[in-house]
Amino acid sequence: MENNKKKFTIIGAGPSGLACAYTLSQYGREIKIFEKSASIGGLAKTLKHGDCMYDIGPHRFFTLNKEIEKFYLKILSKDAIEVKRFTRILFKGELFSYPLTPFSTIIKLGFLDSIKILKDYFISIYNKKILGKKPHNFEDWIILNFGRELYRKFFKTYTEKVWGIDCKNISKDWAAQRIKNLSFLNAIFSPIIKKFKKKKVKTLVDQFWYPKYGAGSFYEKIKKNIESDKVKFFLENSLEKIYHENFNITSIKVKNSDGTNNLVSDFYFFSCPFTEVLEKMEPKPPTDIVNACNKLNYRNHISVKLEVHGDLFKDNWIYIHDPNLRMARVANYINFSKEMSPNGKVNPITVEYFCFENDEIWNSNDEELIKLAENEMRIAKLFTNEDVVKKGFVERSRKAYPIIEMGYDEEVDKIRNYLSKFQNFNVIGRSGMFKYNNQDHAMATGIYAAKNIILGTNTDIWKINSDGLYQEGDIKLEEKL
Ligand SMILES: Cc1cc2nc3c(=O)[nH]c(=O)nc-3n(C[C@H](O)[C@H](O)[C@H](O)COP(=O)(O)OP(=O)(O)OC[C@H]3O[C@@H](n4cnc5c(N)ncnc54)[C@H](O)[C@@H]3O)c2cc1C
Repeated sequence: MENNKKKFTIIGAGPSGLACAYTLSQYGREIKIFEKSASIGGLAKTLKHGDCMYDIGPHRFFTLNKEIEKFYLKILSKDAIEVKRFTRILFKGELFSYPLTPFSTIIKLGFLDSIKILKDYFISIYNKKILGKKPHNFEDWIILNFGRELYRKFFKTYTEKVWGIDCKNISKDWAAQRIKNLSFLNAIFSPIIKKFKKKKVKTLVDQFWYPKYGAGSFYEKIKKNIESDKVKFFLENSLEKIYHENFNITSIKVKNSDGTNNLVSDFYFFSCPFTEVLEKMEPKPPTDIVNACNKLNYRNHISVKLEVHGDLFKDNWIYIHDPNLRMARVANYINFSKEMSPNGKVNPITVEYFCFENDEIWNSNDEELIKLAENEMRIAKLFTNEDVVKKGFVERSRKAYPIIEMGYDEEVDKIRNYLSKFQNFNVIGRSGMFKYNNQDHAMATGIYAAKNIILGTNTDIWKINSDGLYQEGDIKLEEKL
């Protein structure tokens, strides 16, 4: 069959699936997209409730890939807004600028704590430069680069809230990927140098792109752009089985409220969690692949949405480092785009919690979670007595964060090698490739996987987001999430 007559199936209408569908549609291909939930956008969707709009968690857009940025801005057109970033850290009841600024940090921490930080930092330089010590895990990496005291104060609690495991068990890859080139001295001196710079260079640290009507509105626009007789969306349709023979997918089974359907296509793209793809294969993959899959873990995400009437914080989001509070991050979407709440005084707030499937919090009911979030916001003094909290709701996302645990990469490699033997099988995206991908990376995997088939290119999509190149700008005290 000629390549242009071939049929394409995509599982998942999140950023990677939609970018893949968009690319295929530009070449006139016949595409079916199956999405488990009732709406599109995946983890980057925007939810409307009452008069307010909320993302699952705060979603800013930035990328070093010009092709992806061009695509993003073309689709959004006038709806793309540039947001000036303002974020802080809550620690011991105080709000610290983030990225950290030297003077306010010293003033807020006090003289003694600041001396401890500096002393430990010089010890870390000695260990790294003179003794040549090498990091084995996330904890070592941070301590070697910033010193033990800064690690204890600004990295440990938050990181463990997000990942749910000891920092010693988190791979150093994650630190290298997210906070590569982060330099303590740069963090201290950069704000001072910046003040004297003639030309003010705006960096990705200072600002980011955001769609006027929420992160998910970008994906709604893609869908609107491509939906046609040739490009069909099937919402509330979940992948159930993947049948294969001789390293070729022969068909898949999809389930919806009317029952199940077996479907045959020429090429398949899967953006649902990596581990689930393997579980759904029939016949089952070899034992070593199943064992590798069983060693990979994901973290779930709960976002509690609160509609708050009052004059609240002006940050886009605040990281909650305080160990006494269970919440990890809070965001106010009015500080992203005024359109997120048409009535200027109403704040669409997200309070985020990270957990495992068996944790008590995952199984708490919505009322309990809303109460917990409101209570914690009051303890943190982010809501005052005058602020009125109304109409909350809760959004739960399973497998939102692939856990970059020590040794995870060896297991992923085994699975990847096995899947690469298949001719018509592509995994794309974040959970789909078990990679800590952002929207731009997720979209890039979908776009380049589609082009590999249509144009016969040979882009290795596993190399996307693997060089640790994450941020641009003169301070790289970036990034947590
Ligand atoms: C709290 C939070 C904050 C984030 N902040 C940012 C940020 O600031 N900037 C940024 O760029 N990125 C951010 N991200 C990451 C971004 O959301 C992801 O990179 C992106 O959504 C990944 O897209 P994806 O298509 O790979 O996966 P997903 O978004 O997970 O989409 C996968 C889709 O597949 C569907 N699916 C799953 N299983 C099945 C099945 N069996 N059958 C059919 N469909 C199925 C799901 O319902 C989903 O719609 C954040 C993520 C989270 C959770």
